[in-house]
Amino acid sequence: MTDLDAPSPTAERARTGLSADALRRAIVDHVRYSIGRPAAALRPEHYYRALALAVRDRMQDNRVASTQTSLDLGSKVTCYLSAEFLMGPQLGANLLNLGIENAARAALAELGQDLDEVLACEEEPGLGNGGLGRLAACYLDSLATLARPAIGYGIRYEFGIFDQEIHDGWQVEKTDNWLVNGNPWEIAKPDVHYPVLWGGHTERYADDAGVQRVRWIPGRIIQGVAYDTPIQGYGVKTCNVLTLWSARAVQSFALDAFNTGDYYKAVEEEVTSETVTKVLYPNDEPEVGKRLRLLQQFFFVSCSLQHVLHIMDDLADVSVLDLPKRFALQLNDTHPSIGVAELMRLLVDERRLDWDTAWAITVATFGYTNHTLLPEALEKWPLGLFGESLPRHLEIIYEINSRFLDEVRAKFPGDEERVRRMSLIGEDNGKTVKMAYLATVGSHAINGVAALHSELLKSSVLKDFYELWPERFSNKTNGVTPRRFVALSNPGLRALLDRTVGDGWLTHLDRLRGLEPFADDPGFRQEWRDMKRANKARLAEFVVAETGVELDPTWLFDIQVKRIHEYKRQHLNVLNIVTQYLRLKKNPGIEIAPRAFIFGGKAAPGYFLAKRIIKLITAVGDMINNDPTVNQYLKVVFLPNFNVQNAHLIYPAANLSEQISTAGKEASGTGNMKFMMNGALTIGTLDGANVEIREEAGAENFFLFGLTVEEVEALKHDGYRPADFIEANPELASVLDLIAGGHFSHGDTEVFRPLVDNLRYDDPFLVLADYASYVECQDRVSAAWKDRDAWSRMSILNSARSGKFSSDRAIEEYCDDIWGVRPVNVVT
Ligand SMILES: *Cc1c(COP(=O)(O)O)cnc(C)c1O
Repeated sequence: MTDLDAPSPTAERARTGLSADALRRAIVDHVRYSIGRPAAALRPEHYYRALALAVRDRMQDNRVASTQTSLDLGSKVTCYLSAEFLMGPQLGANLLNLGIENAARAALAELGQDLDEVLACEEEPGLGNGGLGRLAACYLDSLATLARPAIGYGIRYEFGIFDQEIHDGWQVEKTDNWLVNGNPWEIAKPDVHYPVLWGGHTERYADDAGVQRVRWIPGRIIQGVAYDTPIQGYGVKTCNVLTLWSARAVQSFALDAFNTGDYYKAVEEEVTSETVTKVLYPNDEPEVGKRLRLLQQFFFVSCSLQHVLHIMDDLADVSVLDLPKRFALQLNDTHPSIGVAELMRLLVDERRLDWDTAWAITVATFGYTNHTLLPEALEKWPLGLFGESLPRHLEIIYEINSRFLDEVRAKFPGDEERVRRMSLIGEDNGKTVKMAYLATVGSHAINGVAALHSELLKSSVLKDFYELWPERFSNKTNGVTPRRFVALSNPGLRALLDRTVGDGWLTHLDRLRGLEPFADDPGFRQEWRDMKRANKARLAEFVVAETGVELDPTWLFDIQVKRIHEYKRQHLNVLNIVTQYLRLKKNPGIEIAPRAFIFGGKAAPGYFLAKRIIKLITAVGDMINNDPTVNQYLKVVFLPNFNVQNAHLIYPAANLSEQISTAGKEASGTGNMKFMMNGALTIGTLDGANVEIREEAGAENFFLFGLTVEEVEALKHDGYRPADFIEANPELASVLDLIAGGHFSHGDTEVFRPLVDNLRYDDPFLVLADYASYVECQDRVSAAWKDRDAWSRMSILNSARSGKFSSDRAIEEYCDDIWGVRPVNVVT
C-alpha cells in the first residue's frame, strides 16, 4: 500500500469504525460536511442521507480491498449483464450485511432519531419491472456474500418503473422521480466514460498490412458515463460493484455545432442523447419494436464491453486472448444479447483479431439465461430498423449466421428445413433478427431458470439448438436472498430461527431443516403463530393506511402479488372470490373460514386487459367489503404500488401464496420462493419452480390444482372450447353472468365485457378449464385452515424445507458449472 492509499489515522475511525460511537461521529460529520444543514433544521431524511453516506464509506474500504485482492490474485470475475436491477431499499440491507444494525440504531438514538423512521425515508431505485430485475439484485447479493468477484452492469434510468396509484379502482401511472433528492449510494465516475456509436454506415479499407477491414462511420456518438454502487456481501469483506451507465452528449459534437453558429442544435443534440437512459420501458413480457429500446440495450452493453476490455488492457502479462480466463459475461435474458455481435466488432474491427479467434473468445466468454417461453416475449428486431441503427452489427450477424448454418448443414446434411428454422434471420412477417438465437449461438452455456422450464426449452423454443449442442444446456433454478427476504423483512422469524437453528442459516439456508423437529412441538407452533400474527398485524396497518380497508389479523391472509398478466391469472383468483361471494349470498348461514384476499402488482400501461383485471379486483372488493352479509367472511384489497419496499411487509404476512399461472407459462417465479421461506403454504399449478417447491415441501404440504403442461397442450391441440366448461358448470356460468351483468359495476355492462368475452370465446390461458379444480382446491385450503395445529405444522415445514431456494445455492451452481469463478479471500 502506498501512503496515498492509506487512510489517515484520525480519519480512520470516523470513516471506517463499526462501533456505535464511530458511526455517531460519522453521521455528525456528514450532516455538517456533506449535507450542510444547521442542527435545528435537520429532519429524518437528512439523517437518512448522513447515515447512508457513513455506511457507504465503510463499504468503500472493502470495495478497494476487494478489487486489489482479485487483481493481485488474477481472479476471474463474473460480469452480470442485465437491463434491469430491482435493488430495493439499500440502507437496511447494507447495515445487515456489514453487521452494524445495532450500532446504527444506537448511534441514531443518541442523536434523538429512530432507525425505523430513518429507514423509511429511502426512495427505492425501481430500475426493473419485476422478477427478472429482482433476480439480478438477489444474485449480486449472493455473489458478494459468497466472496466471488463480480460486476453488475446495467442502465442508470433516470425514471424507473412508474409509481402506481389507484383512482376510482383504475391504475394510474405516475413518473418515478427517484433521483430527485439525490442518491447517496452511487459514486459518479465522470472519468470512466466510453463512446457509443449509432446509425450511419460502414466502409471497407485495407490496413497497413494490406488486410481488408471494415470501419463503422456512425450517424451519431453518445457518451456513456459510469455510476458505481458498492455491493457488500454479508459477513465478509467482499464488496463488489454495480456499474450503471448514464448517457450524456459528446462534448465535441456540441462544440462543432456551436462553432457553426447553431447553438440550439447543440443543445438539442445534448437533450436527445440524454433521453437514451431517461426511462425504463415498463413492459414485463411482450416486446415492442422501439428503436430507443434497442439503443438502450446496445448503449449499456457497448459501454460494459469496452470497460471490460479496458480493464484487460490495464492488466500486466495478460492479452485479450485471455478474456475467457479472466471474465465470464452472463446475459440476463436477451436484452443484452447484442453483446455477442458487439464483442465480435470490438475484437475484429478494433483489436484486429481474425474471425475464428474472436469467435472462440466470444463463445467461451458468454453465457445466456433464458427467462421466457412465451413466443410474443422473445425479442425480434425488424431487419430494417436494426440495419439503420447498427449497420456493422447486422453485417457481423450475417457472417455469424452463415458460418453457423454451415455447421448445421455439416451435422444434418440435406435438412434444409432445419437450416431455415435455425437461421438468426427470421423470415415470417417481414425479416427480423432473432435475439434469443443470437444469444444461444454466441454462448457456451445456455440455461433455463427452473427444472421444468429448462426441459421445455430443450423441447420447444430451443429444441433445434439442443439437438446440435446438447452439452451447452443446463438448468439453474432461480433463488432469492434470505438476507433481504427473511432477515431484513421478517425480524420475528429471524429471531425465532436464530434461537432454534442458530444464525448460520443466513448463509447456509439448508440449516432451516433443523426446524423440522419443532413442527411437532405445540409450544413452538404457538410461537410460530404469534410471529405470523404480528406480521399480519403489521401488514394490516399498512393496508388500512393505503386503502382504508380494515383487515383482521386472525383471518387467513391469501396473497397474490406479482405483475398483472393474463398468464399469471389474477382473474382466476377473482372468479373463485366471486364464487365464494355467491355461495354466501345464496346461503348466508354457511360456515366459511374468514379470508382476506390481498392483491398487488403493476400492469404495463398499454396492457388493456391487465388494467381491466385491476379494475375488476377493486370493483369486487368494493362490493364485498361494504356488504355486511359477506364482509364477516371475506375481504378483498388491492394494495397499490407493489415494489420491493412493500414486499418486505407482504411476503412475511402470508398464510397462502397464490402461484396459479397456466402450466408451462411461468419460467420459474421467485415470489413463490419468498412466500415459502416465510412460512406460507402454496396453492399452485405444476408450473415453473412450483414443481420443485412441492418436491421440497412434500406433496402433503402443498395445495396442487390444475392442468399439467401435457394436459394444457393436449387440450389446445384438440381445440379448446371454453363454452364446454361453462355449460358443464352452472356455478361458473353464474359467476361470469354476475360480472358481465354489471353486478360489480353499478349496472355497467360494458366495463368488464372485454374480460368476460375474452374468457368465454378465447381464454388463451385456460382460466375456465382450471376453474373447477381451483375452486375445489380452495375449499380444501379452507378446511385445512380450520385445524390450526395442522396448518402451523405445514407452515413450519415449508420454511424448514425452503433451503434450496436461496440464491446462494443458485449462484454457487452458476459459478461452478458455467462461470468458473472461485471465492476470493479479501485481505485488508
Ligand atoms: C419477487 C418480486 C417479483 C416477482 O414475483 P413473481 O411472483 O415471481 O412474479 C416482482 N416484483 C417484486 C417487487 C418482487 O419482489
